[in-house]
Amino acid sequence: MRIRALLFWAVAAMAAIPAMVGTQGAQYPITVIAPGTGPYTFPAGYQTPWDKIQIRVTAKMSPNLFVLHGSEGLDPAHPDASGGRVMALFGPDGVLMVDTENRQVAEKTLQAIRTFTDAPIKVLVNTHLHSDHTGANAFFARQGALIFSQENLQSELLRPPARANGQPAPAPDMAGIPVAIYNYNAAAPGQPAVTFNMNGETVDFIPMMPSHTAGDTIVRFRKANVVYIEDFYRNFGYPFADQANGGSIRGMLDAVDLIEKLAGPDTTLVPGHGTLVKKKDLLGYRAMLVDILAKVKTLRDQGKSLKEVLAANLTAPYDKTTQGDTQQSKDRFITEVYDEMKDFPPVVDGKRTMPNHP
Ligand SMILES: [Zn+2]
Repeated sequence: MRIRALLFWAVAAMAAIPAMVGTQGAQYPITVIAPGTGPYTFPAGYQTPWDKIQIRVTAKMSPNLFVLHGSEGLDPAHPDASGGRVMALFGPDGVLMVDTENRQVAEKTLQAIRTFTDAPIKVLVNTHLHSDHTGANAFFARQGALIFSQENLQSELLRPPARANGQPAPAPDMAGIPVAIYNYNAAAPGQPAVTFNMNGETVDFIPMMPSHTAGDTIVRFRKANVVYIEDFYRNFGYPFADQANGGSIRGMLDAVDLIEKLAGPDTTLVPGHGTLVKKKDLLGYRAMLVDILAKVKTLRDQGKSLKEVLAANLTAPYDKTTQGDTQQSKDRFITEVYDEMKDFPPVVDGKRTMPNHP
């Protein structure tokens, strides 16, 4: 009798486990601070007050996987929340970071990490080269981080394209250059280049096709069921492909389609900016890319100039549902699509030589 009762208990306990795990999992992600929605305006000559910008934990993706992000309403480059999101996986094996925020808030980013872990900073992966994602690379390398990225990103950081005004870009801080590099394999999209088993989590660094830049990486946390999808998708402002650094609007469409294959319906997708999403939320964005690509192609095939295509106001149907829909944001998007339709320069060492528009 006793044994049977024990067996009953054991079976009952085992049956209860999946339900318990399910309930626990459902607590995540936890949004701590949502990004702002605007609209935002900044006076002419406004300078970002870096001393006022705070870096805080804005979301918890699992008990040991947190998201950090900057304050709302202060940074004109990203008014909804300053800088690019950072993710930190932490525990006895040390800290694995995704991106590093702007250089000016490096110390604050470390302090924010120190509010939840004393573990050493061990691994850093860069999703793309922009300074709101790599600006504090050198700072975190000095904390002990080994930096991983695509080879194209390393090349983009080492040899940045000239600025729009023709001035050469400033020399990089060599301490912040990635040292562990890998490449995108067009024969196997979605295949991880690097996999870490740390702190009870399995983390994949998945190199992407030229999309937001030619050096993009997405980062998958298998157990937490989370993918950091960086900036080829955005829900604040119109799409932006950094074509001079090898990006492509068509590549961003391919990137969205790869996420469709890699993510499950419940996978939380973490963009570099804007709100956290699920893959169904990418459908409207995808449809807009397809629509704009087709409409710009038609006009360019008819011999229309860039000025005429911009004047056609093709983004009008999307303005109502696109937060941060500034004129600058929509003109940049349409100009990029226009440039991709004809004589689009190839990627060489992570860069493209783009035409100058007067
Ligand atoms: Zn970004």
